Amino acid sequence: MAQITCSFCGRNKKDVDLMVSGISAHICNFCIEQAHQILGEEEKTNKQQKKPKFKLKKPKELTEYLNHYVIGQQEAKKVLSVAVYNHYKRLLQKTSVNVEDEDIKIEKSNIIMVGDTGTGKTYLAKTLAKVLEVPFCIADATVLTEAGYVGEDVESILTRLLQAADYNVEAAERGIVYIDEIDKIARKSDNPSITRDVSGEGVQQALLKLLEGTAVNVPPQGGRKHPDQKMISVNTENILFICGGAFDGITRHIASRLNTQPMGFSKIVEGKHVDRNNLLQYVTALDLKAFGLIPELIGRLPVLTHLDPLDKATLKSILTEPRNALVKQYQKLLDMEGVKLQFEESGIDYIVDKAVEFNLGARGLRSICEAIITDAMYELPSDDTIKELVIDEKYAREQFDKSKFKKLQVA
Ligand code: ADP
Repeated sequence: MAQITCSFCGRNKKDVDLMVSGISAHICNFCIEQAHQILGEEEKTNKQQKKPKFKLKKPKELTEYLNHYVIGQQEAKKVLSVAVYNHYKRLLQKTSVNVEDEDIKIEKSNIIMVGDTGTGKTYLAKTLAKVLEVPFCIADATVLTEAGYVGEDVESILTRLLQAADYNVEAAERGIVYIDEIDKIARKSDNPSITRDVSGEGVQQALLKLLEGTAVNVPPQGGRKHPDQKMISVNTENILFICGGAFDGITRHIASRLNTQPMGFSKIVEGKHVDRNNLLQYVTALDLKAFGLIPELIGRLPVLTHLDPLDKATLKSILTEPRNALVKQYQKLLDMEGVKLQFEESGIDYIVDKAVEFNLGARGLRSICEAIITDAMYELPSDDTIKELVIDEKYAREQFDKSKFKKLQVA
């Protein structure tokens, strides 16, 4: 009988673990493995060489999408949608070859959002990320320190982006980064010379080069840079940065600039009525500077927008209307137990009132709902007799009074 050998490498059947036979050829496990590797590498290079192909989403389409999830905040939605749309257009301009246009270079417009905690800054950014066709990541400014100090170097922000892009550098270089809590790196005092401000002004300085666009060496695994680590070079020229922060106390600067009081009687400034309940809408670069951001940083974040404070009506809408509204989430959870959960208007109002009372923004809604519904979620799975739960004011109040919140209130 003729010897069976691999048609690719010529190995004998007895020298290999497995031999697969075709119509007129054989292949051994070693050659299969090698072929598989070649295929994988080929696929990877193809992916990297692929030119960016975007479906340009118009600003109104982006806002419409955001509307399904984020309530209100029309100004911020508009500004973000336009910025993202322009970001796409810049990227497309880079790939189109139009010699006449070469002189007109569209510069990127990094964004800064100012809004109280829990008003939806991160949520807006996260929701936006879902429709984007570019890599997107969220970074936190509080962990950053000037290079050489305990904490993370600013380059670690780009590590996240690289991870989001599956380490495809070209894709990461077109991405969008959201930097949360940018206000936490404000200058600590007006006199920078007393001590080194390594987590404040130092970080602002370090961020400058990232924001304006240069080649940055990024540690692929994040954390601190160390000499033996292999770095990946990322050019930030086409990366869009969106920063957000609560800027607690900035209303004082706004008020004094507007020559009005944060509290007290409203005043007419230059013929316009000043709405003291929402001073953030008048925020300008001057106020950011007074708060402690250095002018160079402000200059690199040319688009400034604000988020409105959440009033009772908005909180109520947040609780009930969005696609994944809290009320709908709890109903789904209990539906899985075969229990119909119903929220009475009075119950909803009670939850909203408490969220306002504790001043936690929309984030408070979640913890208050948890406090009210946890007992039911504990009991109901073991009780087949109950098929319906109605949350009215009475039920909500009783449950709430048993919770840790009540203890907070008494203290
Ligand atoms: P921050 O402004 O502090 O970044 P977040 O975006 O983290 O606040 O908001 C906390 C939570 O509150 C979000 O996860 C979201 O569920 C809810 N939320 C806040 N604002 C809104 C809004 N305008 N519409 C819908 N949900 C919101």
